[in-house]
Amino acid sequence: MWIDFFEFFSGAIMAYLITRIPYLTFPRVKSWNEQFPPHPGPIYVDAHLVQRVLHMRMFYWLAIVFAIIPLTFGWISLAHGSAPFGFGLWTVAGWLVLSRITGFFAGEEAPCNKQMAMRLQQVRNISDSEDACCAFAQPMWEVTSVKCKSCGIVLLNEPRPDLGRPRSDGWIMGFVRLILTDGKPIMAVDEEE
Ligand SMILES: [Zn+2]
Repeated sequence: MWIDFFEFFSGAIMAYLITRIPYLTFPRVKSWNEQFPPHPGPIYVDAHLVQRVLHMRMFYWLAIVFAIIPLTFGWISLAHGSAPFGFGLWTVAGWLVLSRITGFFAGEEAPCNKQMAMRLQQVRNISDSEDACCAFAQPMWEVTSVKCKSCGIVLLNEPRPDLGRPRSDGWIMGFVRLILTDGKPIMAVDEEE
């Protein structure tokens, strides 16, 4: 009985981790982050940032593709190996696919999404135009909002989600935090991304 439980949870945890591989690892490669200040510093709102938001959105949806791995292994395991283990793999991977697809049709968005990229682009456009907040407008994305570095005005009231930079809180704590939040912004004091 306990062994069945253990195998089920091993499968569930494994499926959870496999489906988060693209989001947890791909954007955190060093060469991918050289144009950004180190985490958790504010990020200048430029073309690189807008592109990064779109990339993070892609990694979020890539999880569905990666769900094929635990679904396949789960199926093999159900048929030929440990049934609880395969069932664990299937439950979590299947749930991820279902919840993302139903969420998509319900209008639920990824932590980083296209509308967010468009709002950031709009901030850029205004800062470059005559309607800018000040003469040296420098929009920076801080933890809770986009602010002008020169005059301090809030340009966009949008908390910053995880943008794939290597975490300042270290590999393990950063990993745990990302697993728990799934990249959504944390609003508590002193938290970031
Ligand atoms: Zn300003």
